[in-house]
Amino acid sequence: MSDILTKEPQEETDKKLITRAYRNLLRSIKAKMDKTDKGNIRAAYELAVDAHKTQRRKSGEPYVLHPIEVARICAAEIGLGATAVICALLHDVVEDTPTTLAEIKEQFGERVMLIVDGLTKLDFKSEDATDVESPQAENFKKVLSTLVVDVRVVLIKMADRLHNMRTLGAMPPHKQVKIAAETSFIYSPLAHRLGLYKLKTEFEDLSLKITNREEYLYIANKLQATKKDRDRYIKKFIHPLEQELKENMIPYRTTGRPKSIYSIWNKLKTKKVPFEEIYDLFAVRIIVDVPPSKEKSICWQVYSIITDVYQPIVERLKDWVTVPKANGYESLHTTVIGPKGRFVEVQIRSERMDDIAERGFAAHWKYKKVSKSPNIYDSWLNNVREILDNSNMDAIDFLNDFKSNLFNEEVYVYTPNGDMRVLPKGATALDFAFDIHSDVGYHATAIKVNNKLEPMGYQLKNGDRLHITTNKSQKPTESWLKMVATGKARNKIRSAMKEERKKEGQIGRETMERKFKNVKADFVESNIEIFSKFLKYKSHVDLYFDISKEKINVTELLKNFTVEGGKLVPIEIKEEKAPRPIVTKAPTDSTAPRSGLHINGEPADNLDYSFATCCHPVPGDAVFAYVSNNGLKIHRSNCPNATNLAAKYGYRIMRADWANVSLTNFSAHLVITGVDTGIGVIESITHTISSDLGLNIRSFQIASNEGIYECNISLHVKDKVQLGLVIKTLKNIRGVDTVTRLE
Ligand code: MN
Repeated sequence: MSDILTKEPQEETDKKLITRAYRNLLRSIKAKMDKTDKGNIRAAYELAVDAHKTQRRKSGEPYVLHPIEVARICAAEIGLGATAVICALLHDVVEDTPTTLAEIKEQFGERVMLIVDGLTKLDFKSEDATDVESPQAENFKKVLSTLVVDVRVVLIKMADRLHNMRTLGAMPPHKQVKIAAETSFIYSPLAHRLGLYKLKTEFEDLSLKITNREEYLYIANKLQATKKDRDRYIKKFIHPLEQELKENMIPYRTTGRPKSIYSIWNKLKTKKVPFEEIYDLFAVRIIVDVPPSKEKSICWQVYSIITDVYQPIVERLKDWVTVPKANGYESLHTTVIGPKGRFVEVQIRSERMDDIAERGFAAHWKYKKVSKSPNIYDSWLNNVREILDNSNMDAIDFLNDFKSNLFNEEVYVYTPNGDMRVLPKGATALDFAFDIHSDVGYHATAIKVNNKLEPMGYQLKNGDRLHITTNKSQKPTESWLKMVATGKARNKIRSAMKEERKKEGQIGRETMERKFKNVKADFVESNIEIFSKFLKYKSHVDLYFDISKEKINVTELLKNFTVEGGKLVPIEIKEEKAPRPIVTKAPTDSTAPRSGLHINGEPADNLDYSFATCCHPVPGDAVFAYVSNNGLKIHRSNCPNATNLAAKYGYRIMRADWANVSLTNFSAHLVITGVDTGIGVIESITHTISSDLGLNIRSFQIASNEGIYECNISLHVKDKVQLGLVIKTLKNIRGVDTVTRLE
């Protein structure tokens, strides 16, 4: 009885929530839809509701709200149409429920089935796959393979990730760190590359909120506090421009918005200035509503109007209207000196350009006929395909290549005939040779840049004109790998070298066959495999090569085997377990501080862990554990190294937290700066630490330059609270300017 009473209202609330979310989704679809589309969306919705009916999210709400919201993001925030909405609604159905792909194909057709299949494959449960070196990198490779099949798979995946990031609060902290790291490592750059600026910005902000929560909140609060001031300033800045624009009969609208928290955070970090000293906290945007044929001239007219009123900083002029960015971004940027002498960035663009800037790839299709550079994405996708085609590349190599090649800005250079080639920034003359044709690359002997002979590793600059001389007898060597920056050239060189190795290896193989015969072992695949496994070779090519180079003595090594009926049998089977890093024993490193640390909810005293030397966590810091090859390492949640690790090896992350803070000492590192007045400020610092605060100084270094000293101290503290007190006390010393904890 009571059971029914409590159950009924819950079901009712759920139902209301779900139908409200669905109506909201329908309202957000801007694309044109026919009757079939509408019917299919309804059917997909009903299927999803039914399939997920017993599931709940970590937050406790009905699971189906997730696919509905992902579909809404696809429609409202990326601007996708009916097909994507249907696929988004179904994106978790196949993996989580008995519904099959065949049923989806039957009901919604092949395209929807293919996209849902792609999305299902992308949902890679990294915990299950500890045998691959980096599941995240593997996963990323998968993201890209689906990108070339149907770009909507990746766009829906982005929406999925965005919703998960927005609702990350319900997840345990160590999972949050892992997801945030993966997002900033893979999804933000990918969103950037696809021109999805809005998504990219939100990904960055949401990740920052997890990895550097305090700094995030600091900036968010400051922005809130200065909002009125800023709005007033923007109004004042725009006012004289508006009159001019109206007089010139240019239809326009303006926006003035603060830059993202992430970009401000970046500025604070790189420029090392306080928030108050950052002036370009916002950008003013002037968007003109004109037909495509007039866009360029009107944008420049607006530029002229602005610079009649305000003085421009000429070096900051960026013209992506004439030559758009590789990701399709078009806009004219200038920075001018506004009222009170403050720098103001102004972005001038048309409505079409604005749409592309906000929604990137998705908007691109809409304007395909209009845009002057319709093949921007096509050529990028071709690049993606090329990198993917090289299937024998290790996943982490792949990820690094990919990140350095396809996410970078580019450089424009010319062939002797004046044809323009676009290469990633940092590409070399040799990269250019491989870009022209593999054969030109293989046989390149000399390269002239602007009629001057340059080394093959010469780094390309915009506008360079290159001429390559080739010679048939030239071939790539290992050292060439250091002279190229593009994945394409590197792959070509690697595979050419592999061929070379194969040829050399043939001699090694013959040697091996002879030695096998000597001990009456059959030279068959199974025996070769046993032998190569014994030596831990991953590929036979490498084994043969090393034999041919006499790095391996086959006769000597065969002594480790007996031969039974032609078959090799290892004499002694060594129990060599894979090195599992977690050892349940007393710590060997007695200097490692122990305290109330819990890992995965269990006291960590029995575990062999140590504190990462890159970020030196102290009790009270937000931390997580990382299973490294040298045992468990405790990192601070905002350690930049760890973010990188978490993205690549997320499955190695474990939850860690402090149960209670013990009395054991921890080392913290402080950097103190100030004006060197020669009145013994150093003495005051050391005295304060050791006598007043009663703490041990472990190391102390000081450097003075042009009257400014910088002092590096590492000292033992009890916990974060005590560290805070130390910093506060030091700041009060006369002659001390700044005290910062070293990250
Ligand atoms: Mn999902």
